[in-house]
Amino acid sequence: MTRPPVVDLSLCICCGVCTECCPAVFVLNPAGYIEVADLPDYLDPDIEEAVRDCPVDCIAFDECMP
Ligand code: SF4
Repeated sequence: MTRPPVVDLSLCICCGVCTECCPAVFVLNPAGYIEVADLPDYLDPDIEEAVRDCPVDCIAFDECMP
């Protein structure tokens, strides 16, 4: 995907699975929330692993973004 994944923070339980699977993209910020790094593309296959493994299924690719 060239578009960034989006984390639904209202569902995220900060389990750390995505930051472990794909630390280049998913970062725990100092406030304790997951942030998506600003990258030129999001083709890293580890992102799909994070999407799959998120225990509350709160990571998705936003198809509506330009
Ligand atoms: S894997 Fe899902 S629930 Fe866990 S920190 Fe990442 S976004 Fe949040």
